[in-house]
Amino acid sequence: MRQKLTNGTILTPFRAIKNGTIVIENGQIIGIHEANVEVPDAIEIDAKGQYIAPGFIDIHVHGGGGFDFMDGTEEAFLKIAELHAQYGTTSLVPTTLTAEKEDLLQTLDVYENANRQNTKGANFLGIHLEGPYFALSQRGAQDPRYIRNPDPAEYEEILSHSSSIVRWSAAPELEGAIAFGQRLRQKGILAAIAHTDAFYDDVLSAYENGYSLVTHLYSAMSGVTRKNAFRYAGVIESAFLLDLDVEIIGDGIHLPAPLLKLIYKIKGADRTALITDAMRGAGMAEGESTLGSLKNGLKVIIEDGVAKMPDRTSFAGSVATFDRLVRNMINMADVSLLEAVRMASTTPARIMGVDHRKGSLVKGKDADIVIFDKDINVSLTMVEGRIVYDKS
Ligand SMILES: [Zn+2]
Repeated sequence: MRQKLTNGTILTPFRAIKNGTIVIENGQIIGIHEANVEVPDAIEIDAKGQYIAPGFIDIHVHGGGGFDFMDGTEEAFLKIAELHAQYGTTSLVPTTLTAEKEDLLQTLDVYENANRQNTKGANFLGIHLEGPYFALSQRGAQDPRYIRNPDPAEYEEILSHSSSIVRWSAAPELEGAIAFGQRLRQKGILAAIAHTDAFYDDVLSAYENGYSLVTHLYSAMSGVTRKNAFRYAGVIESAFLLDLDVEIIGDGIHLPAPLLKLIYKIKGADRTALITDAMRGAGMAEGESTLGSLKNGLKVIIEDGVAKMPDRTSFAGSVATFDRLVRNMINMADVSLLEAVRMASTTPARIMGVDHRKGSLVKGKDADIVIFDKDINVSLTMVEGRIVYDKS
């Protein structure tokens, strides 16, 4: 089957092609043209003068549409994939919360069944285990009952249970965390630094031993700390100093405008990936909700466009959808549209190692495409040539 996308400005996203044409065959891009070209027998999709961009890639997301990946059902995976596709996400990395080993193993099994049935939403790139090897002092909304140090007997069992783990977040200062990073690197799994009170020396050691990404920069991590009269650089400064990739919750609430600008200024679009880190309340009305599984989760409240702990002293996850992240980078951080799209597609594709087939609109890559207007309101989402969302 051939499709032809016309009458839009194509954001490759390294340049903008006005009135360009994308030709798709069997789910792949087979041509990008700088004019409207004739394609015999092609189904034509009219972008109506809007932007045509590579689909957004969310490498850290827990839920949406009332579902959480820890719910333990295939339905949850499929509904979350459909919900986020409505906002331009074409690939996502389902993310777990700190939990007992049995719950993590079950989530991996459910993932594999759901993945085979997933044709109506964003595609899955594999599982991100967020925890449980975290610093108790930086747990944020992670359930303290399940936080522990890396234990080779436990993580080897989890690793051998499933080949779907593509990313694992841990605190590098914990006993055993460096050996854990080395093991992940050996397995080709992205190791990320998260929920941590590490100092620079720990982060440097982590960087040398497999960790290459900082999970939700600024959230649940150390900054400059004073011990007696002396100052020590924390994870935030280390993330800026070392060639680590960073991901940021761009909901406009977790990070205010000056911090978005600071991160962009120092790390740039090619080292910074936008993430939603969304929980089940994304795409839902505000009010009471649950973070994590319905069985073992924490009660939280959603108000002012964010999830909060019941006492309102800290955030408990975001309810962002991806369109909002791109809009915020442009409106709050003065980032250009092309660079914001790179932070939404090209950079996360490279971080997850799928840039040979996703993350930009070029010949030979998957037809993962989003069409949106100048305010980033999404009107059409396509995953590997399948239209999974059409507003009209
Ligand atoms: Zn998270």
